[in-house]
Amino acid sequence: METIKILLDKCSGCGLCLKVCAYDALDLVDKKVYINERCTICGACVDVCKFDAIEIYRRSFKGQDVSAYSGICVYAEHRKNKLSSVVPEVIGAARELKKDLDKTISAILLGSGVKPLAEELISYGVDEVWMIDSLEIVDFAEDIQADLVARILMEKKPEIFLGGGTIIGRSLLPRVAAKILSGLTADCTELTIDTESKFLKQTRPAFGGNIMATILCQNHRPQMATVRHKVMKAAEKVGAGHNGKIVELHDIPIPHSKIEVLEFVEEQTETVNLAEADFIVSGGRGLKDPKNFDLIEKLSKAIGGAVGASRAAVDAGWIPYSHQVGQTGKTVNPTIYIACGISGAIQHLAGMKSSDIIVAINSDANAPIFDVAHYGIVGNLFEVVPELVKQITE
Ligand SMILES: Cc1cc2nc3c(=O)[nH]c(=O)nc-3n(C[C@H](O)[C@H](O)[C@H](O)COP(=O)(O)OP(=O)(O)OC[C@H]3O[C@@H](n4cnc5c(N)ncnc54)[C@H](O)[C@@H]3O)c2cc1C
Repeated sequence: METIKILLDKCSGCGLCLKVCAYDALDLVDKKVYINERCTICGACVDVCKFDAIEIYRRSFKGQDVSAYSGICVYAEHRKNKLSSVVPEVIGAARELKKDLDKTISAILLGSGVKPLAEELISYGVDEVWMIDSLEIVDFAEDIQADLVARILMEKKPEIFLGGGTIIGRSLLPRVAAKILSGLTADCTELTIDTESKFLKQTRPAFGGNIMATILCQNHRPQMATVRHKVMKAAEKVGAGHNGKIVELHDIPIPHSKIEVLEFVEEQTETVNLAEADFIVSGGRGLKDPKNFDLIEKLSKAIGGAVGASRAAVDAGWIPYSHQVGQTGKTVNPTIYIACGISGAIQHLAGMKSSDIIVAINSDANAPIFDVAHYGIVGNLFEVVPELVKQITE
């Protein structure tokens, strides 16, 4: 990203920069210069400033001075005045890293009326919350958020920046990485610190889930990663003895968004959200026909759970993608996962193998799903599932 910033403590208010600006992009207010949205980052003002009060950051692929960066920062995703459930997991990952780095944990919190969320972040063990609380950030708009997060990271210089591998995290963090020219490892399932180099080791499945790749970002900062939802252990709340502080960032200009939110439509689903569900019954190609998902729905209703599916069932158009479990679908972590007519391909296992109890129903005794199942029923699902529904209902 190319960004420009006025260092207010150095700005004398001399106004030289206003004279050379061809875009009317600078305002003089109370003897300090502020940049407005007309700025094209041409750099003319930087050249004339005699006080080195204007800093410009240009794209460069040269390595950075990585020693200037310190600490772990997390992105505090939230909606409807609640932190997203992935946030304690990201903080949990940060707290694990802190054990080896011994540096502070910060959080970036952007929104309107978000102070209670800042306090909640501190209760999870965050040392410092960098907050912009403004009426101009009501709805989530990627462009504004990416710009603000990039500016905060450039100013505060954390060495690690983590977000959730959610729809928002997957959309925001790549934009931020592109703006600040750092790397990003998406959807990590493990994060550790290399004992010698102190680099962040970012591990995620690669090549169709056949290998686990560990990635290092050696020359750029911050080292950025998104954390797969439901994989890392959520941070527990810390005791009252923990002293975190809220730092309100007032001098970062909020850009105008090019996005207009017309309406927010909540996904209509009769069953509970898959990622949050305690019980999941999933169906695969073994169901043979879309209408047979009725069986899966009956069983999931009987145990008060959600309906999942393999990719084969989704690709066949039997059930919407939002139900897909696996590497390219949702990662789930229920108390009980019942797989019906699912072979147990590695890409499916990647999304459900951390379930507490896995029950597999499959007619093929050699199906790989039985390798991860705690309970296996070798049999015809068209007989087994109705019998289970009958017995559970009784
Ligand atoms: C890059 C990549 C990403 C992928 N991502 C995902 C993903 O996110 N999620 C995912 O699920 N897959 C994913 N896949 C696809 C994956 O490799 C498998 O093809 C898919 O999981 C197979 O689905 P299935 O188990 O339903 O079908 P199959 O492998 O065809 O298995 C059907 C099973 O049903 C059993 N069966 C048949 N009849 C009966 C019966 N009457 N009673 C009981 N059992 C019966 C069979 O014995 C068989 O084991 C991905 C693949 C790639 C290459």
